[in-house]
Amino acid sequence: MQLEGQVAIVTGAGRGIGRAIALELARLGAGIVVAEVNQETAAETAREVEQLGQRAMAIRVDVTRPADRQAMVDQTMRTFGRIDVLINNAGIYRSAAHLDITEEHWDSVLAVNSKAVLFCSLAVLPHMLAARRGVIVNLASMAGKVPSTTALPYAVSKAAVISLTRSLAAAYARDGIRVNCVCPGFVETDMWAQLDREVGVEQLGRQPGEYVRERIASVPLGRAAQPEDIAHVIGFLTTGKASYMTGQAINVTGGLVMY
Ligand code: NAD
Repeated sequence: MQLEGQVAIVTGAGRGIGRAIALELARLGAGIVVAEVNQETAAETAREVEQLGQRAMAIRVDVTRPADRQAMVDQTMRTFGRIDVLINNAGIYRSAAHLDITEEHWDSVLAVNSKAVLFCSLAVLPHMLAARRGVIVNLASMAGKVPSTTALPYAVSKAAVISLTRSLAAAYARDGIRVNCVCPGFVETDMWAQLDREVGVEQLGRQPGEYVRERIASVPLGRAAQPEDIAHVIGFLTTGKASYMTGQAINVTGGLVMY
């Protein structure tokens, strides 16, 4: 129970990796704020956290909306009185051939995946600075480290997460605040099913499931990640066991990316 008595906000925790992170941090002893745009899935995750014996609060938050971000922080402080951990997990995936990328596509992906990561961090930082402690973990992706021919704005949005992670880490290390990000590879979630449909079937004309199978066959460890594979690494990063780590972009890719 290395996070006993602590409080963690997890964005996009209604399903997939975010849900697994919420449950992992609850197992480590933290109370959880499920900040999610889908009210129903948020409530489900909150119930599961409570079943693990931890306090939970579900808040409907669209991370792209300034008023929602402020409400997320204010309600957390009112209910729990502290914010120890922020996990910026909410993200969206969209694909398009380069020549089909529109300004709307670019803006929508960067708004959720990059801009909201910065502004959720800026919303919690005053409280972490006052406490002179805090941990932020951002969901980047291996897509932020390698070129993309099918989802350029997504790749750029994740490269931005790696960059802003380093800048925040450098700025606040002396205030006792650590900021890291993780770069998952292929994780079996709804987002991955969407990728099979949009890239595999619609862009490349493959049979359903074929593109995903090919991508998984290229993973050195021989399988896709489960959400828990990512959640375990994030759990570690939030605890004192990672107290000498900040500004890092940790690959959790089954060996696909090694730099
Ligand atoms: P997912 O689509 O299964 O879940 C994303 C969650 O975020 C959903 O519950 C959704 O409702 C929520 N969300 C979306 N937009 C939101 C908004 N504006 N405000 C609040 N909540 C919002 O995705 P996932 O696969 O669990 O991915 C989680 C994170 O991990 C994302 O940042 C994603 O880019 C990253 N990632 C995923 C993979 C993968 O293979 N699945 C790989 C690398 C990185």
